[in-house]
Amino acid sequence: MNRIGILTSGGDAPGMNAAIRAVVRKALHNGIEVYGIHRGFLGLINSDFVKLDLRSVGDIIHRGGTMLLTARCEEFKTKEGQEKGLKNLEAFGIEGLVVIGGDGSLRGANALSKLGMPTIGIPATIDNDIAYTDNCIGFDTAANTVVDALNKVRDTATSHERTFVIEVMGRRAGHLALYTGIASGAETILVPEIPFELDAICEKIKQGYVRGKLHSIIIVAEGAGNSIEIGKTIQEKTGLETRAIILGHLQRGGNPSAYDRILASSMGGKAVDLITQNVKDKMVGVVNGEFVATDIEKVLSVSKPLNMQLYELADILSL
Ligand code: ADP
Repeated sequence: MNRIGILTSGGDAPGMNAAIRAVVRKALHNGIEVYGIHRGFLGLINSDFVKLDLRSVGDIIHRGGTMLLTARCEEFKTKEGQEKGLKNLEAFGIEGLVVIGGDGSLRGANALSKLGMPTIGIPATIDNDIAYTDNCIGFDTAANTVVDALNKVRDTATSHERTFVIEVMGRRAGHLALYTGIASGAETILVPEIPFELDAICEKIKQGYVRGKLHSIIIVAEGAGNSIEIGKTIQEKTGLETRAIILGHLQRGGNPSAYDRILASSMGGKAVDLITQNVKDKMVGVVNGEFVATDIEKVLSVSKPLNMQLYELADILSL
C-alpha cells in the first residue's frame, strides 16, 4: 500500500480533526502517502483531492469541525455516483480509503468496499448511535457542552422556580439525552426508544414541587417529541411556568474534550494499522477499552441499544 485517501462525511463532530491528524501522521510514519478529500463523498465525485503532509495537519488537534470540510451527497447513494468516486480514487493511485462519519457515511464506505476499494470506517457522531463501539468521536465533547448549558439553565430555573424542557440532538437515539440527563440531574429524560405518558410526567413534576423542589428539568431527545409542544402541555396540565429551549447546533461545535482527542487519535492510528494489513470493509470501535475492527455490514445491521441500567437509575435518582 503506497497511497491512501481520507474524508469526513455527514454531520461534523468534535474530534474529527484529531482523527485526520492521526491517520495522516501514522500513515506517513509508515511510508504511505495521504490524500485528503474535501466535502466527503461530494469531493470524491468531484475529484476534490489535496495531498497532505505532516505540516498540513498541524494545529488542528484542538479544533472542532473538520479541516477537510463535510457535506451530504445524494448522488453517492447511487451506483453511478459510487463508480464515479471509485474511478477518481483510482486515477489518483489511491489504494485504500479512511471514512470518518456517522452511519450514513459508513454505508458509503461499505458501498466503496463492495466495489473493490479497501475502506475503513471511523465512527464520529455526537449521537453515539453506532453499534460495536462504546463511544463515537464527538459524543463526549457534545455531552460536556450540553451539561455546561444545563448548569446555566439550572441557575435560572431554580431562581424563578420554573420548569424547563431542554431539547438535545438525537433524532433516532436517546444516548445523548440519557447521558446528559444523568450528568445534570434532570427530573425526566424523554428518548425515542421508550414511549412515555405526559400525564404521568406532569404528575411527577407536581409531586416534586409539593416535596419542595424549586425547579424541574426535562431533557427531550429531538426524536422523542416536539419540545415546544411538550412544554406547553406541561404548563397547561401543571399550572407551572414552563419554558422550552432547543440547544440545536451549538452541541456540535467547540474544542474536542481530552477524551475525544485520545479516542480520535487511537482510532486514526488503528485505521492505518488495518489498512496496512490489507483489512477492508471494517469499522474501528472501542469496546471495553480495546480497539477492535468489526465488519461494517455487521455494524449497520443493528441499532445500538440504550443503556437500560442507566435509564432505570436515572428515574430513581431524579426523585
Ligand atoms: P452521517 O454519516 O452523519 O450519518 P448522513 O446519513 O447524512 O450522515 O450520510 C452522509 C453521506 O453518506 C450521505 O450524504 C451520502 O453521501 C452517504 N451515504 C449515506 N447513505 C448511503 C448509502 N446507503 N449508500 C451510499 N452512500 C451513502
